[in-house]
Amino acid sequence: MSENIVSLKNVSYSYTDYDGAETRVLKNINLSIKKGEYVVILGHNGSGKSTLCKLLNRIIIPSDGDVVCFGINTRDESKELELRKNVQMVFQNPDNQLVEAIVEEDVAFGPSNLGIKNPELRNIVDKSLEDVEMSKYALKAPHELSGGQKQRIAIAGVLAIKPKLIIFDEATAMLDPIGRKEILGEIDYLNKKKGITVVNVTHHMKEATLASRVIVLDDGEIKLDGSPREVFSNLEKITSFGLDVPQSLELYFNLKSRGFKFSNDTKVPLNPQ
Ligand code: ADP
Repeated sequence: MSENIVSLKNVSYSYTDYDGAETRVLKNINLSIKKGEYVVILGHNGSGKSTLCKLLNRIIIPSDGDVVCFGINTRDESKELELRKNVQMVFQNPDNQLVEAIVEEDVAFGPSNLGIKNPELRNIVDKSLEDVEMSKYALKAPHELSGGQKQRIAIAGVLAIKPKLIIFDEATAMLDPIGRKEILGEIDYLNKKKGITVVNVTHHMKEATLASRVIVLDDGEIKLDGSPREVFSNLEKITSFGLDVPQSLELYFNLKSRGFKFSNDTKVPLNPQ
């Protein structure tokens, strides 16, 4: 089995408000992620998903316990740059992540800040745009693009840094169904074809079915952790965590609560008399 690239041991996190009062939003999290996994973290708003992600690339450091990513303890400030080269994030709103006026300049932003110069820079930018199928938009302004296209440029910017782990923090939340499909396809491609470890944070239950592993977070604690088959085998339990339930599942529960019995041999007559 492949190696652990992320390890959280007894991790808690508290935010401190203006009066100095502390609110504990992550409680005693123990979690390891292996190279090549596609992990979906599911949880309703406020369950602690973003806080968990921010711990992985040192946007915040734990109040208690340790986070180790790629052998680096996130408490070690001197290793911040090395850590961030390995762990990159894509956020909900691409407008906040796109900083330059032209698409290709935006993609070049990260690697040029790391000191990479032409011709290597040119190659990296071209390859990153190719990976997200946006090469023909290289000279466009980001504001001319659709939400899904902008998010793909944000992903290209992240790819240009050549990270080993990409965290998508509600990266599909602001997109229409077409944009969402584009980004989910892209996430799948990066994981399956480029071998990048992926963490996709979402409150959409449907997105979890695409992953190799699903973690359900509720009230700052990991409540379920397993393959989609394991986690979804108890539908009643998973829907009790306040997640967005797909319409078909809602229909299933409504029918069930009215006494409808489902069985494998339930047949719907094609031409009822
Ligand atoms: P999620 O990503 O699941 O919506 P978050 O990690 O953003 O959850 O938030 C978890 C809890 O922490 C929520 O109750 C939220 O209000 C609180 N929280 C998040 N960010 C801050 C902050 N900067 N200061 C104080 N409380 C915060």
